[in-house]
Amino acid sequence: MSRPMDVQAELNDGLRELRLPAVRQSYEELARQAEREQLTYEQYLLELVHREEDARHEARISRLLRQSRIPREKNLETFDLKRLPVKAARQIKTLLEGDFLDRRENLLVFGHPGSGKTHALCAVGLALIAQGRKLHFTTSALLVQDLLRAKQELKLSRLIKQLSSYEGLIIDELGYGQQSREEMEVLFTLLAERYERGSVLLSSNLPFSQWTLIFKDAMTTAAAIDRLVHHSVIVELNVASYRLEAAKKNQPGIVDGGEPPEKTEPAADPAGSSQDSSG
Ligand code: ADP
Ligand code: MG
Repeated sequence: MSRPMDVQAELNDGLRELRLPAVRQSYEELARQAEREQLTYEQYLLELVHREEDARHEARISRLLRQSRIPREKNLETFDLKRLPVKAARQIKTLLEGDFLDRRENLLVFGHPGSGKTHALCAVGLALIAQGRKLHFTTSALLVQDLLRAKQELKLSRLIKQLSSYEGLIIDELGYGQQSREEMEVLFTLLAERYERGSVLLSSNLPFSQWTLIFKDAMTTAAAIDRLVHHSVIVELNVASYRLEAAKKNQPGIVDGGEPPEKTEPAADPAGSSQDSSG
């Protein structure tokens, strides 16, 4: 039998080697507790196993959070569902169950600037990550930049493959900024590749009828809309701008000059024949 000091040193080394940091951290304290509470060897071991499992789960979630690039402050706690149209709030609650990711369905969020599209996508994303799901947040502009750079370096398919490791790819602000045809081609390639393979969660302040502004020609636009809408949940946040309301509260005199011009407002039903699967 080794001496107690040697046992500890060897245990520490072994647990380090086996990469069981939580066991290493808690075995001593738990051993004292086990003596006090007269736990069986199995109960003691089980408690240690649980500690390691918990630590790994936590580490995995923080890794997923980091990789997701989702702004942490746009979470469900800071998102007031009561401000949303009843249907949108109900849809978002259903989305939080995460089944749409298993079905590789898309989430398309429409609304005026300031209506909470970005916050809604982030809040759903963060909640799903807490359940261990893998998502990534980017804006349409950033994504297009990355895709173009990859294309120039002949690494487009590699990047698309990397992105396919995410169950949900959040593409925020589709339609902001006028992009060139080449820029939109890479975006279309990505959407086509992801079709039925992984969920896309996107927001746009442009109704489908104006997506030719994004995809340039009618054919590409129709093809992009087809793929996105085919299996999708469409959430419409057609509510007064939250930014504007907050400003109004602080400055009662403010008038509605901050609202977007007519043409950027989504139509009542952006999808036309919406295949809203969340009912
Ligand atoms: P959009 O992306 O549609 O332009 P944002 O999601 O950026 O709008 O929302 C604008 C601001 O208002 C953000 O600071 C956001 O956190 C806040 N906001 C919007 N909707 C809500 C809501 N329902 N509850 C709490 N804050 C909200
Ligand atoms: Mg936004």
